[in-house]
Formats: sequence, C-alpha cells, structure tokens
Amino acid sequence: MTRPLVEECERLGHALIEVAETGAPGAVNRPLLEALADHGLFDRLFSDETVTATDLCSIRQGLARVSTEAETAFAVQGLGAIPIHLSGAPNLRDQLMPGVRSGETVAAFALTEPGAGSDAAALSTIAESDGDGFRISGEKAYISNAPDADIYTLFARTTLGAGSRGITAFVVGSETDGVRGERITMLSPHPLGRIHLDDVYVPKSNVLGEIDHGFRVAMQTLDLFRPSVGAFALGMAEAALRIATGHAMTRTAFGTPISDFQGVSHQLADVRLDIEAAELLVYSAAAAHDAGDTETLTGKAAMAKLHATETAQRAVDTAIQVLGARGLEADTTLAHLYLEVRAPRIYEGTSEIQRNIIARELFNGRI
Ligand SMILES: Cc1cc2nc3c(=O)[nH]c(=O)nc-3n(C[C@H](O)[C@H](O)[C@H](O)COP(=O)(O)OP(=O)(O)OC[C@H]3O[C@@H](n4cnc5c(N)ncnc54)[C@H](O)[C@@H]3O)c2cc1C
Repeated sequence: MTRPLVEECERLGHALIEVAETGAPGAVNRPLLEALADHGLFDRLFSDETVTATDLCSIRQGLARVSTEAETAFAVQGLGAIPIHLSGAPNLRDQLMPGVRSGETVAAFALTEPGAGSDAAALSTIAESDGDGFRISGEKAYISNAPDADIYTLFARTTLGAGSRGITAFVVGSETDGVRGERITMLSPHPLGRIHLDDVYVPKSNVLGEIDHGFRVAMQTLDLFRPSVGAFALGMAEAALRIATGHAMTRTAFGTPISDFQGVSHQLADVRLDIEAAELLVYSAAAAHDAGDTETLTGKAAMAKLHATETAQRAVDTAIQVLGARGLEADTTLAHLYLEVRAPRIYEGTSEIQRNIIARELFNGRI
C-alpha cells in the first residue's frame, strides 16, 4: 500500500539519522526534538485541527522504517502534549504550546505508578484541594521522557474511592518545588524514568479538562495514539523484512541463494502476510477514529495494536534467523530493532489487556 505521507516521513527519517544518533542512550535528545520541529512535524501534530489518526499513523510508520529514535521522540512529545492541546484552557495552551511545537519544551505523559499499570484507574497519587490550587503527592513510574521532560501531563486522584471517575489531569512543571525525577535504564535506549511528587503545589489553571474527569482526558489521548503504536511496530517490521529479504536473495548456501529454500522463503512469506494484515488493521482503526466511529474504535484499535506489535516481534526474530550468525552481531540495525521491538507489546496496554478489550467488545456485539 503506498501512502505519500509514509514515504515523505521515511525520507525525513533519513535526514534525521545523524542528529538521532548523537543522543545519549536513555536521555532525551533535545536537538532531535528541535529538528523534528524544524521539519514541521510538531506543527502537523498540534495544528488548529489536530492531527488525524491516519496522518499520525503515517508519520510514525515512515519514521520507524528508518529511525526508532526519531519516531519515539516524535511520539512521546505528542503523547505528553496532546492532552494540553485538546483539553488545556486557552491561557495554558498559549503559555505552553509554542515551546512544545518548537521542540524546546519537552513533554511527557505520566499515568503509570508502581502500584497501577494495566489497572491505571487504581492510581494512588493524591491531589488535595488547597485554596486556588491543589497539592499533589505520590510517585509515577516508567514515564517516557522522564526525568528530562520540562512538563508532565500528570494524572492524580481528586476523589477517594471513586475509581476512574475520581481522577484529574494536571500539567506539572519539572522545576516545581517538590518534584524529583530519576532515570530508569531500560533494555532499549528509550528515555524513561520515575517522578516523585512531595506536596507539589499546582494552580487550578493547570487542570486539563474537568476536575474528576481526567480519565476521559487520558482515554481520549490513548484512543488517538493506540492505532499509531501499531503503525510504529509496522514500520519496524517492514525494516526487518527488508533486511531479511535482501540477505536471503544474496546469501548463497549449497550453491544457491538461500531464498531458493522453501524453509527460508516461507518464513518471509508469513511475515509479509502478517505485515499486510497489520497495515489493514492499523489504518482501519485510524479511519474509525477519524470518522468518529466510537462504536467500533475501541475494538479495532485493540486489534490493530495487538496484531501489529506481535507481528513486529516475529518479523525481527525471523529476520535474525534468516541472517544466521550475522543477525546477532552487535551495533547493527537488526540488533537495534531486536531491543526496540519488545516494549510496544507492553506499553499503552499490554497484549493481554488488548485481548481482554477485544473479547469485551466481541461479547458486547460492537465488533
Ligand atoms: C518503554 C516503556 C515506556 C512507557 N512509557 C510510559 C509513559 O510514557 N507513560 C505512562 O504512564 N506509562 C508508560 N509505560 C508504562 C506502561 O504503560 C505499563 O508498563 C503498562 O501499562 C503495563 O503495566 P505494568 O508494567 O505495571 O504491568 P502489570 O499491569 O503489572 O502487568 C503485569 C502482567 O500481568 C498482565 N495482566 C495485568 N492485568 C491483566 C488482566 N486483567 N488480564 C490479563 N493479564 C493481565 C499484563 O498483561 C502483564 O503481562 C511505559 C512502559 C514501557 C515498557
């Protein structure tokens, strides 16, 4: 399937490789964010009309084919700042969004806690009303772009015992008194960390959306982003398949290219098949989002994310098998993909949670 924006962003990915590779592993690469802004990508994301899910998927797929660092920097900035763009009061947006769009202000999305991952509504970070604001205490964990980010879209409990209906979304600056961050080193070079909040004062003007309705802000963001996690995975799967196909056609064994062996060619045929199916699922979910089809979106987005991320894992593993020992050499694109491909099966809803959602939507008759 040819999509002009995917091809455009793949070309752009090539232009970003050099700056992407100058970043320290596990830390936010600020020059990369500014380069993404210079190429107009944040303007696409945060324009007056807000990006469509289809365009978001195309950008992520194109960048991921070439540079997972550029892709991740783009996506995490989006995840962190879309709630401000969509739900912030005009003054807050005017104050923060120009810096986000220029890549100077680094954003992050802080929902997960040590005691609340898949069950995000069980979060226990507390925000207590105090005069014209709130005092927030608690801990966030596994937050992309932490602790380097400048601003966090952060979810905290404002009504005890109310589950998902007692959560509010706030913007918290990393320089605010009582905020402390620390890095978590991951297998992949993903910038990620923990944030401790100790009696952090945040004015009411930093609330996103309505008090006690922050879970809606989180879900609105994840509805837009979930198909695009599939698109990120799709780009990585395509990159792995290209490497494997090129190798299979040129590597000879027993006097013939290894692509002549059915044991090899069928492995790659299966990956190609899975990629085609993943692409259809991803863009079908994105189209449901863009059409406002709330009936099927949840189920379709779960199917897209599940199938694409599992496909990418198999694609990278198959590529390594087809390359033989060369597939396990360090400092290669494939080795990099091997480390990068694992996390998307966990974040923004694990594969098990996606299956729960698909089953629920199936029994509800929505898909
Ligand atoms: C690289 C990376 C980046 C991340 N970035 C962010 C970020 O920017 N912001 C943010 O807020 N969070 C982020 N996260 C956190 C991520 O969203 C959570 O890790 C994820 O939601 C899973 O939560 P958990 O790790 O606590 O696992 P748990 O919820 O403890 O789950 C452990 C296991 O139990 C399974 N399980 C749990 N409940 C069920 C169930 N009902 N049915 C079946 N199986 C179940 C899970 O599938 C999993 O296999 C990131 C994580 C990673 C790895």
